[in-house]
Amino acid sequence: MERVAEGVWLLRGDLRKSMNVYFLEDGDGVVQFDAGTKAMRRKVRAAADQLGGLKRIVLGHAHADHRGTAPYLGAPVFCHADDVADAESDASIAPYMDLSKLPVAPVRRLYPFLLRHWDGGAVKIAGTVAEGDEVAGFRVVHFPGHAPGLIGLWRESDRVALVSDTIYLVDSARLKPLPESEASVPHPAWAWDHAQAKQSVRKLAALEPKVVGAGHAEPLRGENLRETLERAAEKY
Ligand SMILES: [Zn+2]
Repeated sequence: MERVAEGVWLLRGDLRKSMNVYFLEDGDGVVQFDAGTKAMRRKVRAAADQLGGLKRIVLGHAHADHRGTAPYLGAPVFCHADDVADAESDASIAPYMDLSKLPVAPVRRLYPFLLRHWDGGAVKIAGTVAEGDEVAGFRVVHFPGHAPGLIGLWRESDRVALVSDTIYLVDSARLKPLPESEASVPHPAWAWDHAQAKQSVRKLAALEPKVVGAGHAEPLRGENLRETLERAAEKY
């Protein structure tokens, strides 16, 4: 596990260690933000136990590679109201995804298999969180677009943003890393509403974060992340 900021831990697993699960210290235990892939369930449980035990899970959104461990950890699961239906569905591919938009044929053919493999199945949602709610010292921010109920967590005191797939630090359309310190709006093939996804990246930029922990790859750090994020919102 790697320490991202005060009281914030990151466990990276599965495909090239690209799947991120965050743990936020909260009293005598931890809150888990995002749930990675099914294959990570034992490591996630061990990590949560090591940090005092899992109090609850908050999903950044309901996609297969973000809900994978949630059914296996015995903790109540929360998400934004607009992602409850997808979280509680058996489908590994969200109804609005259009994989035919992916530009590289082998990647396009691979994804249905990957999404089903990563998925842990339907998740029972215990309750919802909304913009402004407090989660382990962070505030919930709604970043709709990539998914309707996508949320991030924001802590103004040290400008740390944990944002799930609001921004990509990998090239998911080609299954390749992005150049160092680059970021992109997730590809339209995944999007519930791509125009809103771009708007949400601008909303994140305006917070002027110094650390952005996304759903995939290493956190982005720097004094000028606003510029990096605004540039990303102009692409695609
Ligand atoms: Zn996603």
